[in-house]
Formats: sequence, C-alpha cells, structure tokens
Amino acid sequence: MADYLIIEECPLCGFSDSIKILKVSDYRGSGEQFTIWECKKCSLRFTSPIPDENHIQKYYETNSYVSHSAQPDSIIDKIYKLVQKITLRSKKSSVEKWSDVKCGATLDIGCGTGDFLNKMKMSGWEVEGIEVNQSARQIAQNKINKNILAPKDFLKSDNQFDVITLWHSLEHLHDLHKYVGQIKGSLKQNGTLFVAVPNYNSFDAEYYRSNWAAYDVPRHLYHFSFESMKILLKEYGFELMKYRQLPFDPFYISLMSETAVKNKGSIIRASWIGLRSFVSGLFNPKKGSSILYIIRKGNN
Ligand SMILES: [Zn+2]
Repeated sequence: MADYLIIEECPLCGFSDSIKILKVSDYRGSGEQFTIWECKKCSLRFTSPIPDENHIQKYYETNSYVSHSAQPDSIIDKIYKLVQKITLRSKKSSVEKWSDVKCGATLDIGCGTGDFLNKMKMSGWEVEGIEVNQSARQIAQNKINKNILAPKDFLKSDNQFDVITLWHSLEHLHDLHKYVGQIKGSLKQNGTLFVAVPNYNSFDAEYYRSNWAAYDVPRHLYHFSFESMKILLKEYGFELMKYRQLPFDPFYISLMSETAVKNKGSIIRASWIGLRSFVSGLFNPKKGSSILYIIRKGNN
C-alpha cells in the first residue's frame, strides 16, 4: 500500500470525523474499487485511500479518458467532441463577459490537449497552460506552440494572470490548499477565477449513486457540494460573483453512467435522467450536474 495515501482528515477543513458514503469502481480501466467519504463538518466528499501523485499517472493512461483523447473513435467520443465545440465557445464567452479585461493573460489549469487555450489564443489572449498528463501536454504544446507547464513548475512560477480557469480540474489536484493558495497568488488584483466541478447533490448524482460517472475515482480526489465550495472560497477571501450549471454535463454524465459504468445501460434512460437533471439545474443551479463558479480575487 506504499503507493496509496489514506486521507484521515478532511482535505478542505481538516475535520477528522467523516462518514463512509459509497464504494465506487474505476470504470475507465483498472476496475479497482475506491471509497468515498463525506466530512461531517463541511460536507466535502473525498476519495480515500488515493494513489499518490506519482502512482496516479497510470490511472490517466487509458483510451477511455476522453478529455485527454485526441482521436475520437467511439460514439461517446464523437458526441463529446461535438459538445466540446459548443462548450468551448460558451466558456470563452463566459470569460469575456465576467473578466475585467476583454483580452489579457490567462492560465488554464488542467488544459488537457489545449483546445480551450487555442480558442483563447486565436482571440488574442496571452495563454499559458498546466497539464499533468505528459502526452496531453505534448499535444497541447504543438497546438498552441508554447511550453505547457507540469503542475510542479506552476508552484514555482510567479506569473500574474487576469484570468485563471479550472474546467473540471480542481478535483484532480493533490494538496488542495497548496494549489488554491498558488492560484490566489497568481491572480492579478482584479483577476477572475473560473472553477467548474461536478456536484454530488445533483439529480443525476443522486439517481446513479455509485454508478455516477462524475465520481471518476481515483482521478477525482474531491467531490464538491455547493456548500463545501463556498467554504473553500471564503477561506481564501474569494468573492463568488455568479454560479450556474454547465448545460451539457447532465446529459454527458448520465450517458457515461449508463454506457460506461453500468454493464447494460440504456441511452434512452440516460437522456431522460439527463433532461430531468438539466431542468432541476436550470431552476436551481445548486442542483446542477456540474457547477461553474465565477469568482473574484477580493481584497483580503
Ligand atoms: Zn471538511
């Protein structure tokens, strides 16, 4: 077990009393089971034990890890790519709507194969990226013709950014506080932070339970609720300006839960659950399958 870390205290608030919630299997290849716990104080859920930073690499090296895949071959990959095209546009317009500057320096943490960076670069933004997966990093580097940092190099960097984005990547970072502290330090005074993470209080999460694809163990180390995210932001003096659901996630996650996690899933049921989750997230973003948090650095 030397390669695994047992998380005894809540990675967010440090409280040592947690309850066991679910056992979830890694559906992307290893099939290994991991346990998800919920902190009794701040409501963050977390995976424990987790592979350590070096050992977790192998859990990313699978063809089904579509966010890092550059060669679509299955139907899900094709849908993913189509949706990605639309969401790239929507991410860019969110950034340009909420940030103080219309064009500046941006950092994408967990940039994958660099599609978002490329989109921003084409609109004149100065872009930098961080990516843990070496082959994804290589693809991103070729795409934007710029060096992409590994996470360890980010922690040494003192560059300043107008915008920092984490599209489904905060939940992957070992040592949450080290990274959030560095993110705060790397934002300019009026900088804007965009964080999108899955929401375990969503309709689709509650329906699929241990089959919910967005638990994505062991790659997802943390599983946020709206309340636990608010606690994290408050601790760093961040100001939450706006939050909303990501509209395609309930459909994509339900489809993944049905077809990739379950043995005999139904695409029709995935569409129905996705739709119900989408509607509940529309009326109450705290119930969204994934929530996008738009955040200001604040003065403290
Ligand atoms: Zn906690």
